[in-house]
Amino acid sequence: MISRIDLRGAALPEGAALRDLLPRAEFDVEAALETVRPICEDVRHRGTAAVLEYNRRFDGVTHGATRVPAEALERALAELDPAVRAALEESVRRARLVHRDQRRTDHTTRVVPGGTVTERWVPVERVGLYVPGGVAVYPSSVVMNVVPAQEAGVAGIAVSSPPQAASGGLPHPTILAACALLGVDEVHAAGGAQAIAMFAHGTEECRPVNLVTGPGNIYVVAAKRLLKGRIGIDAEAGPTEIAVLADAGADPVHVAADLISQAEHDTLAASVLVTDSAALADAVEGELKEQVARTRHHERVTAALAGRQSAIVLVDGVDEGLRVVDAYAAEHLEVQTADAAAVAARVRNAGAVFVGPYAPVSLGDYSAGSNHVLPTGGCACHSSGLSVQSFLRGIHVVEYDREALAGAARHVVTLAEAEDLPAHGDAIRARFGGAVPDAPRE
Ligand code: NAD
Repeated sequence: MISRIDLRGAALPEGAALRDLLPRAEFDVEAALETVRPICEDVRHRGTAAVLEYNRRFDGVTHGATRVPAEALERALAELDPAVRAALEESVRRARLVHRDQRRTDHTTRVVPGGTVTERWVPVERVGLYVPGGVAVYPSSVVMNVVPAQEAGVAGIAVSSPPQAASGGLPHPTILAACALLGVDEVHAAGGAQAIAMFAHGTEECRPVNLVTGPGNIYVVAAKRLLKGRIGIDAEAGPTEIAVLADAGADPVHVAADLISQAEHDTLAASVLVTDSAALADAVEGELKEQVARTRHHERVTAALAGRQSAIVLVDGVDEGLRVVDAYAAEHLEVQTADAAAVAARVRNAGAVFVGPYAPVSLGDYSAGSNHVLPTGGCACHSSGLSVQSFLRGIHVVEYDREALAGAARHVVTLAEAEDLPAHGDAIRARFGGAVPDAPRE
């Protein structure tokens, strides 16, 4: 059901060599670029008509517009199961608490008397938020995209999610209800690469956006990579991953349940247990067999656990385990060891870390207050999950008076000449009657 990688008894290799020993999904975004390039070009030239054609081809729906009518949003909210509404409202409340605290305030640094640099934080003007809806539907991803954008002060928010045949060509009603709950009134029925191209190039129904965020399958990730530059994008968030760093004291029932919970997302999802306890490894494997048999999506889960991206990795100790999970750079990392908080504090690479026995990844998926749009595929070693910061730009505002400029003039001219850019120096001289003032001052 799940393979084993035994790294005990020998020194662990460094960096990339260690990463190469660890399991990872075959997620060839470069190859998918060839599929999405013509789709994106077609949307650029033909706009809405092209989006609707791909919706028909890939999602099997026929409808005449991408924009979801306001009445459909209102109806979806009115018909939402009250228990689901209450759970979504609580998820929004907790996410707002956390994301509100991430707001940045402008900061001014006095470099010299009369010379300051201010970092001014300005929200992106218009964003396109992608909410996946192929294998599973993710109203929680509406919350995780929209809340940080709203807390950042983004004025223009558009959401897109794949159309569903069962919903008459509209996105899933729970997604529409979540949008309505959050006050988002621009929602489009479009999935995959065509949705990202719609956001990037604009169509008759959707003005172009400056930034696209949100997770998705390989076509979504490839389209974001292709159109990056025309639009800003967040970190690549592809198939879900969980790594659990556990020692002999961890509860195998919990560990197995958590590995299954993420394998449930899709057949490419990765579940990795890193442990120094062979007894725990055996117990978890036994639990997996029992729990998978009982779980609703057992075929999907079995495929994910048996895939090359999932494994139990045996290591000599927690220190070695930390090296392994840092090399892996998981989207979600659970630490279920003795003194879990101290061990978690040593983790360097992960999208989000879940500490101890009562912080399972499922909590973070919905209701911890943290964001669940997180970097996958090892991108956690250089990128962060979605946050208020993702929707802000920092603008440096430079204010120097004559005296302060005089203090830097000699250095600027020297460096300009060293770079053979004498006109840079002339721009300084022009302010001081053609000479370079000498008086450096502090
Ligand atoms: P999706 O919305 O990402 O993709 C569905 C769309 O893919 C369809 O609308 C269709 O347009 C397009 N498509 C399907 N087959 C195609 C083909 N052959 N050629 C071109 N386009 C095609 O939904 P999904 O497929 O369920 O994927 C969602 C992904 O998001 C999963 O991998 C899940 O694990 C991941 N996810 C990640 C996070 C995160 O934060 N990292 C959070 C939630 C979900």
